[in-house]
Amino acid sequence: MTEHNLSENLIEGRVVPTHRTANFSAGPAALPTAVLQRAQAELLDYNGLGVSVMEISHRSPAFMEIAEHARNTLRNLLCVPNTHEILFLQGGATLQFTGVPLNLLGGADAENDADYLVTGAWSQKALVQAAAMELGNCRCVATGEPNYSTLPSGWCSQNAAYFHYCSNETVHGLQLEIRDIAPFVADKVPIVCDMSSDILSKPLDVSRFGLIYAGAQKNIGPAGLTLVIVDKSLLGRAHNYCPPVLNYTVQAQNDSMANTPPTFAWYLAGLVFEWVAEQGGVAAMAQKNTQKAALIYDAIDSSGGFYRNDVAQKYRSAMNVPFFLPNEALTNRFIAGATENGLLHLKGHKLVGGIRASLYNAVPLPAVQQLAEFMNEFARKNG
Ligand code: PMP
Repeated sequence: MTEHNLSENLIEGRVVPTHRTANFSAGPAALPTAVLQRAQAELLDYNGLGVSVMEISHRSPAFMEIAEHARNTLRNLLCVPNTHEILFLQGGATLQFTGVPLNLLGGADAENDADYLVTGAWSQKALVQAAAMELGNCRCVATGEPNYSTLPSGWCSQNAAYFHYCSNETVHGLQLEIRDIAPFVADKVPIVCDMSSDILSKPLDVSRFGLIYAGAQKNIGPAGLTLVIVDKSLLGRAHNYCPPVLNYTVQAQNDSMANTPPTFAWYLAGLVFEWVAEQGGVAAMAQKNTQKAALIYDAIDSSGGFYRNDVAQKYRSAMNVPFFLPNEALTNRFIAGATENGLLHLKGHKLVGGIRASLYNAVPLPAVQQLAEFMNEFARKNG
């Protein structure tokens, strides 16, 4: 992105431009303003072709270059080793709930049990949908039900085709590091992780994972694209029932173009990857994300119990901060007041209610500062 200034200053120097509201949406979520500006500038005439990216063949040299560049930028950002394939698929993370068992529980002589750790609404869904395939025995090794406020203890995964967990529970606001998980999973069991809501938010040791999947619409780009990073040693195990577009081996052999890919979403994801690189990469993202999350958790913890977040300190998510006020009337007043102040999309998920502030990479620090100030003021007036 040499011809366009995508520097952080352009965004943060404006302290949330008036035409861009402070957007705390859980997903589809805020995209970097500079990325949208670049896409806007290139919309009608991509690189002198006289057409938009949406209007060219996925097999054209121009799109092949966009696709390859996005893949390489991501590989560099996350230091994805050559042992792992990067796939750009469709269907959202939800399709991977069935895609994972279809790809990993299909081999005739393969171990056909899969272990699932349930730490919130999304890993619960992943288990239910995988089990419904009846391809093998999908077992729940432990569950944090009903509150999902901490990592369950007293479990291990030893004899399984794979072990599945979710690194960031978007609804319940619980985030897990691989070091919290790996000691309880036998070395030979591949770890599969749903990273939909925290991929690219911090450095990642991809080599520890057999498979990572993530819907795009939080830290990657617009909805419609799904990222899969898979250890090549896990390819070739798909069940006969696995459709080709969902088959990692087929997609790897076809550079993720077994059918027409979501070209515009792929292009935008490439711009987001470049933006992350320009900000200093995932380490810089982590630093900023920690700073942003601390502002909101401080506002909660210093409110004298007016705001409540039930997640164990160690597992509090830096991406999604759910919190609760003393009653529904105050919750509604909080949302109305926040909206009036240009702080949008803070309503909690319908499963848990309350408030949820999503603080993905593209949410600028000044927006989070504004929210923290609003929270402090609201608690002072209503507490
Ligand atoms: N997993 C997690 C952790 C999520 O946050 C979401 C969506 N919010 C999903 C899976 C489902 O993603 P999609 O709607 O893209 O299928």
